[in-house]
Amino acid sequence: MSGAPVVRFAPSPTGSLHVGNARAALFNFLFARKNGGRFMLRMDDTDDERSTPEFAAGIEQDLAWLGLAHDLFARQSERLPAYEAAAEKLKADGRLYPAYETAAELDRKRKRQMARGLPPVYDRAALDLTDEDRAKLEAEGRKPHWRFRLDRVHTAFEDLVQGHVEVDGASLSDPVLIREDGRFLYTLPSVVDDIDFAVTHVIRGSDHITNTGVQIQIIRALGAEPPVYAHYSLLNGPEGKPLSKRDDAARFSLRALREAGFEPMALNALLARLGTPDPVEPCLSLDELAARFDISRLGRADIRFDPADLAKVNTACLHLMSYGEAKPRLAALGCDLGEAFWEAVKPNLVLFSDAADWARVVEGPVEPVIENPDFAAAAAAVLPPEPWDEGTWGLWTNAVKEATGAKGKALFMPLRLALTGLTHGPELKNLLPLIGRDRAEARLGGLTR
Ligand code: GLU
Repeated sequence: MSGAPVVRFAPSPTGSLHVGNARAALFNFLFARKNGGRFMLRMDDTDDERSTPEFAAGIEQDLAWLGLAHDLFARQSERLPAYEAAAEKLKADGRLYPAYETAAELDRKRKRQMARGLPPVYDRAALDLTDEDRAKLEAEGRKPHWRFRLDRVHTAFEDLVQGHVEVDGASLSDPVLIREDGRFLYTLPSVVDDIDFAVTHVIRGSDHITNTGVQIQIIRALGAEPPVYAHYSLLNGPEGKPLSKRDDAARFSLRALREAGFEPMALNALLARLGTPDPVEPCLSLDELAARFDISRLGRADIRFDPADLAKVNTACLHLMSYGEAKPRLAALGCDLGEAFWEAVKPNLVLFSDAADWARVVEGPVEPVIENPDFAAAAAAVLPPEPWDEGTWGLWTNAVKEATGAKGKALFMPLRLALTGLTHGPELKNLLPLIGRDRAEARLGGLTR
């Protein structure tokens, strides 16, 4: 293969993208970036009953959120003449033939074959029809669907993930490329586009391996050379079942993850490494992910997407975020309390928006929890004078210890509960100077401040 690679992500806009689709988009994007190639977004929208402009717009929005900008764009619904021309060529060459069976007839055939212990492969009865037979069927009002006549041979290819693969044409039914209403099914448009846009590498899920055997035959029948294929293993849900557009849309759609507040780069970092033996490296840029991306590191076993893993990577990304990066986002949340605040709270963030909760703990109002008012009053009495810094907490707690005799958890927990109303949170040595003496004294006195 010479020249820069061209790859494509080819969703059907019949639903929203989920994490499995994001992985397909990411792999293709990273492959293009790493190899100086081009990344194409192709809307496989020939099914005009189920495709909608809203889903297409949603897909573009999801990819923009992930930062996966495309270099080329196509919509299959705008390329029908190219598919018609390819179909005409295949018909002229006798590779595309009309068949007239109804769905019910095909179903009966399959059942008979299975009852006799035979594989349910289409018997090619339509190839035996004479011109008169066809004329008669059409006079009865039947419209043909069109099947591609497969060569009954093994089609072999070297897959970048799966290794050597063979698909036995004899085990497959001749695929229907055009339905009786004249609409193209996915296969022919996909192949024609891969040829016309000079796609060099088709990177997609292992559920397409058999399709690839068929598509290679169609590509050759159209006089072209097949691209290189890479079929990665599929991403299942946390229960080990495949992700489906419908059922998992709510849980694992990109939109749901975006709205839940996850960092797109956390998702990219996780998806780039799931299914490889390599650890997830949070907080890498797309260029860094691309430089490290190696398709041959992908394994063949199916893998799981666990939202708990995403939460972990998200947390790690936030821990690495500088104040400079965080500042505009803190401001947008109305909680930019300065660099010391960011450094104090970021180790406690799972989602960026958690910062707003900690800002409320600093600025109040906090409802203090005071189990022993005498202890709290004794602690308030020895609060040092301001200015405060991160040394203040140590000085103060030593003084409280001396005054009350409390130590360890019995010393620290009542102070945390009084100052924050919570049993856990950022280190108090960092929070205390942000809370300040007035609020600390009020809270120790049981006031909501
Ligand atoms: N539209 C197809 C799908 O979503 C594309 C598969 C491919 O990459 O060729 O499954």
